[in-house]
Amino acid sequence: MERLKNKTAIITGGARGLGKAFSLALAEQGAKVVIADLMHEEAMKTARDLEEKGCAALPLRVDVTSESDTMMIAKETMEAFGRIDILVNNAAMVYGVGRKSFTEIPVTEWDRMMSVSLKGSFLCAKAVFPEMKKRNRGKIINISSETAFTGSNGFLHYVTSKGGVISFTRSLAAELGQYGICVNCVAPGFTDTEAARTLTDDINKYDVSLTPLRRLGLPEDIVGSVIFLSSNDSDFITGQTLVVDGGRYMH
Ligand code: NAD
Repeated sequence: MERLKNKTAIITGGARGLGKAFSLALAEQGAKVVIADLMHEEAMKTARDLEEKGCAALPLRVDVTSESDTMMIAKETMEAFGRIDILVNNAAMVYGVGRKSFTEIPVTEWDRMMSVSLKGSFLCAKAVFPEMKKRNRGKIINISSETAFTGSNGFLHYVTSKGGVISFTRSLAAELGQYGICVNCVAPGFTDTEAARTLTDDINKYDVSLTPLRRLGLPEDIVGSVIFLSSNDSDFITGQTLVVDGGRYMH
């Protein structure tokens, strides 16, 4: 059964990695998918992959830190599909962010990290809100990280921004509940994506001894939580953060 039939979903950073997995999974559940990414070639390729499976997809070149771009996402989505039901705030700076002491983080990199994770999520939520409000219904899913709970040596800006995503989720949920809009968060553990592979010398050496389920996460392991939080099954859940990490961090 398609759980998202006739819905439209916007996935930021949907061109590759986890965002691509979310795009595919929501499309397979019947949603029309807008892939909003800086990397247009990859976004177009992902859209083609979806179309080959008979799904509707719209790739858009956007920088989520630009308000004109995020307004454009909402406008183009309405023109193409006539409604906005789901927003997944997934875009983030992950690829090639090297581990470094906090004293070595360039201020420009700190600012860009905050901007993509936090300003990007804020602007995208602001852009889709009018359409969701009109229907008195909507689902906003923000992607944080297990590291927001555990900390991570050498990624202070990334982890701080992901902590902000959890607080953003809670405050926005408190404000938007009155409009029937659910705002929730998924915090994946370390997951095997091309970007994650740039953060470690050898992903196969990742220590899973502290993971109760004893293996590294794959993008397919994270999609179920996003489908659930996009679907009617989660209609009375808002402001929550679901940690999807094989049980490493329990809360
Ligand atoms: P990724 O780098 O492959 O994906 C990020 C996507 O966001 C890319 O397609 C990139 O082009 C896009 N993007 C970056 N800046 C953008 C901007 N300004 N505007 C629009 N698009 C932009 O990384 P990933 O591993 O697939 O991670 C996806 C999400 O999952 C991120 O939010 C990340 O923090 C989170 N996450 C990943 C892991 C992991 O281990 N892979 C763990 C926890 C959380």
